Amino acid sequence: MVLALVFLLIPSLSFSTCLLPPFKKGTSHRIIQGFGGKYSHIAPLQYGIDLEMPIGTLVYSSRAGVVSEVKMSSSLGGPSKKFKPKANKIIISHGGGDYTLYAHLKKDSQRVKLGQEIPAGLPIARSGCTGWCDGPHLHFEFFKKNRDGSRLSKNFKFKTELGCAVPKFGAQVSNKFIK
Ligand SMILES: [Zn+2]
Repeated sequence: MVLALVFLLIPSLSFSTCLLPPFKKGTSHRIIQGFGGKYSHIAPLQYGIDLEMPIGTLVYSSRAGVVSEVKMSSSLGGPSKKFKPKANKIIISHGGGDYTLYAHLKKDSQRVKLGQEIPAGLPIARSGCTGWCDGPHLHFEFFKKNRDGSRLSKNFKFKTELGCAVPKFGAQVSNKFIK
Protein backbone atom coordinates (compact mmCIF):
# COMPACT_ATOMS: atom_id res chain seq x y z
CA MET A 1 0.00 0.00 0.00
CA VAL A 2 2.75 2.42 0.96
CA LEU A 3 4.74 1.45 -2.14
CA ALA A 4 1.72 1.94 -4.38
CA LEU A 5 1.21 5.41 -2.95
CA VAL A 6 4.82 6.33 -3.60
CA PHE A 7 4.50 5.32 -7.25
CA LEU A 8 1.27 7.25 -7.62
CA LEU A 9 2.85 10.37 -6.21
CA ILE A 10 5.93 10.41 -8.42
CA PRO A 11 4.27 11.84 -11.57
CA SER A 12 2.74 14.74 -9.65
CA LEU A 13 6.12 15.54 -8.15
CA SER A 14 7.80 15.88 -11.54
CA PHE A 15 8.36 19.56 -11.25
CA SER A 16 8.95 22.10 -13.96
CA THR A 17 9.90 25.66 -13.21
CA CYS A 18 7.29 28.34 -13.86
CA LEU A 19 8.74 31.40 -15.63
CA LEU A 20 7.32 34.77 -16.61
CA PRO A 21 6.75 35.18 -20.36
CA PRO A 22 9.79 37.19 -21.59
CA PHE A 23 7.89 40.18 -23.00
CA LYS A 24 5.82 43.21 -22.00
CA LYS A 25 2.71 43.02 -19.85
CA GLY A 26 -0.50 43.22 -21.88
CA THR A 27 1.10 41.86 -25.04
CA SER A 28 1.10 38.38 -26.51
CA HIS A 29 3.27 36.40 -28.90
CA ARG A 30 2.73 33.16 -30.79
CA ILE A 31 4.93 30.09 -30.35
CA ILE A 32 6.17 29.31 -33.86
CA GLN A 33 8.46 26.46 -32.77
CA GLY A 34 7.88 24.52 -29.57
CA PHE A 35 9.60 21.90 -27.45
CA GLY A 36 11.19 19.31 -29.72
CA GLY A 37 10.59 21.38 -32.88
CA LYS A 38 12.19 19.58 -35.81
CA TYR A 39 13.70 22.73 -37.34
CA SER A 40 16.26 23.40 -34.60
CA HIS A 41 14.99 22.28 -31.17
CA ILE A 42 16.82 18.97 -31.08
CA ALA A 43 17.99 17.14 -27.92
CA PRO A 44 19.77 18.08 -25.69
CA LEU A 45 18.35 21.52 -26.56
CA GLN A 46 14.78 20.35 -27.19
CA TYR A 47 13.20 22.50 -24.47
CA GLY A 48 13.50 25.77 -26.33
CA ILE A 49 10.68 27.80 -27.85
CA ASP A 50 10.56 30.41 -30.60
CA LEU A 51 8.23 33.35 -30.05
CA GLU A 52 7.19 35.30 -33.13
CA MET A 53 8.33 38.85 -32.47
CA PRO A 54 8.82 41.90 -34.71
CA ILE A 55 12.39 43.22 -34.73
CA GLY A 56 12.88 45.80 -31.98
CA THR A 57 10.38 44.34 -29.48
CA LEU A 58 11.54 44.67 -25.87
CA VAL A 59 12.59 41.37 -24.31
CA TYR A 60 12.14 40.93 -20.53
CA SER A 61 13.86 38.76 -17.94
CA SER A 62 11.66 35.80 -17.07
CA ARG A 63 13.14 35.26 -13.61
CA ALA A 64 15.40 37.16 -11.19
CA GLY A 65 19.12 36.45 -11.54
CA VAL A 66 22.57 37.65 -12.52
CA VAL A 67 23.54 38.47 -16.11
CA SER A 68 26.14 35.86 -17.01
CA GLU A 69 26.68 36.40 -20.75
CA VAL A 70 26.08 39.30 -23.11
CA LYS A 71 26.95 38.93 -26.79
CA MET A 72 25.42 41.71 -28.84
CA SER A 73 27.95 42.69 -31.53
CA SER A 74 26.52 40.83 -34.52
CA SER A 75 24.34 42.23 -37.26
CA LEU A 76 24.24 39.03 -39.31
CA GLY A 77 21.43 36.51 -39.57
CA GLY A 78 20.01 34.12 -42.13
CA PRO A 79 17.98 30.97 -42.76
CA SER A 80 20.74 28.38 -42.46
CA LYS A 81 22.74 26.69 -39.76
CA LYS A 82 25.96 28.38 -40.89
CA PHE A 83 24.66 31.63 -39.34
CA LYS A 84 24.37 30.00 -35.90
CA PRO A 85 27.57 31.54 -34.44
CA LYS A 86 26.30 35.02 -35.45
CA ALA A 87 23.41 35.05 -32.95
CA ASN A 88 23.37 37.79 -30.35
CA LYS A 89 22.31 36.54 -26.95
CA ILE A 90 21.92 37.24 -23.26
CA ILE A 91 22.15 34.52 -20.63
CA ILE A 92 20.92 35.01 -17.07
CA SER A 93 22.03 32.79 -14.19
CA HIS A 94 19.32 31.95 -11.63
CA GLY A 95 21.44 30.04 -9.13
CA GLY A 96 21.45 26.29 -8.56
CA GLY A 97 22.94 25.79 -12.04
CA ASP A 98 19.83 27.13 -13.83
CA TYR A 99 19.98 29.67 -16.66
CA THR A 100 17.68 31.34 -19.18
CA LEU A 101 18.80 32.18 -22.71
CA TYR A 102 17.41 34.93 -24.96
CA ALA A 103 18.73 34.67 -28.53
CA HIS A 104 18.66 36.35 -31.98
CA LEU A 105 18.66 39.78 -30.27
CA LYS A 106 19.14 43.04 -32.13
CA LYS A 107 22.70 44.38 -32.37
CA ASP A 108 23.82 46.56 -29.43
CA SER A 109 20.30 46.76 -27.95
CA GLN A 110 21.23 45.46 -24.48
CA ARG A 111 19.97 47.28 -21.38
CA VAL A 112 21.85 45.17 -18.82
CA LYS A 113 25.52 44.54 -18.10
CA LEU A 114 27.54 41.43 -17.43
CA GLY A 115 27.40 40.64 -13.70
CA GLN A 116 24.36 42.83 -13.05
CA GLU A 117 21.79 41.52 -10.60
CA ILE A 118 18.32 41.88 -12.08
CA PRO A 119 14.71 41.20 -11.04
CA ALA A 120 12.16 39.23 -13.07
CA GLY A 121 10.28 41.39 -15.55
CA LEU A 122 13.09 43.80 -16.44
CA PRO A 123 13.63 44.85 -20.08
CA ILE A 124 17.02 43.40 -21.04
CA ALA A 125 17.31 43.99 -24.81
CA ARG A 126 15.37 44.18 -28.07
CA SER A 127 14.52 41.23 -30.27
CA GLY A 128 16.04 40.76 -33.70
CA CYS A 129 16.92 38.10 -36.24
CA THR A 130 20.66 37.55 -35.79
CA GLY A 131 22.19 34.09 -36.12
CA TRP A 132 20.27 31.13 -37.56
CA CYS A 133 16.99 32.91 -38.18
CA ASP A 134 14.47 32.67 -41.02
CA GLY A 135 12.12 35.33 -39.64
CA PRO A 136 12.08 37.73 -36.66
CA HIS A 137 11.63 35.83 -33.41
CA LEU A 138 12.96 35.31 -29.91
CA HIS A 139 14.51 31.98 -29.05
CA PHE A 140 13.94 31.37 -25.35
CA GLU A 141 15.37 28.49 -23.40
CA PHE A 142 15.75 27.30 -19.81
CA PHE A 143 18.84 25.17 -19.21
CA LYS A 144 21.43 23.70 -16.90
CA LYS A 145 25.14 23.79 -17.68
CA ASN A 146 27.01 20.53 -18.10
CA ARG A 147 30.49 20.19 -16.61
CA ASP A 148 32.05 20.98 -20.00
CA GLY A 149 30.01 24.19 -20.20
CA SER A 150 27.56 22.89 -22.82
CA ARG A 151 23.81 23.37 -22.32
CA LEU A 152 21.26 20.80 -21.23
CA SER A 153 17.81 22.29 -21.79
CA LYS A 154 15.12 21.91 -19.13
CA ASN A 155 11.37 21.67 -19.31
CA PHE A 156 9.55 24.81 -18.11
CA LYS A 157 6.12 26.39 -17.93
CA PHE A 158 4.90 29.95 -18.37
CA LYS A 159 2.97 31.79 -15.71
CA THR A 160 -0.55 32.54 -16.95
CA GLU A 161 -3.74 33.88 -15.37
CA LEU A 162 -4.89 30.34 -14.69
CA GLY A 163 -1.64 29.06 -13.26
CA CYS A 164 1.43 27.59 -14.91
CA ALA A 165 1.06 26.25 -18.45
CA VAL A 166 3.24 24.24 -20.80
CA PRO A 167 4.24 26.45 -23.76
CA LYS A 168 2.75 24.62 -26.73
CA PHE A 169 3.51 25.00 -30.43
CA GLY A 170 1.00 27.35 -32.07
CA ALA A 171 -0.23 28.85 -28.80
CA GLN A 172 -0.54 32.57 -28.29
CA VAL A 173 1.19 33.38 -24.99
CA SER A 174 -0.22 36.39 -23.12
CA ASN A 175 1.62 38.19 -20.41
CA LYS A 176 -0.57 39.65 -17.71
CA PHE A 177 2.10 39.67 -15.07
CA ILE A 178 5.05 41.85 -15.93
CA LYS A 179 5.40 45.55 -16.65
ZN1 LIG B 1 14.68 28.44 -31.38
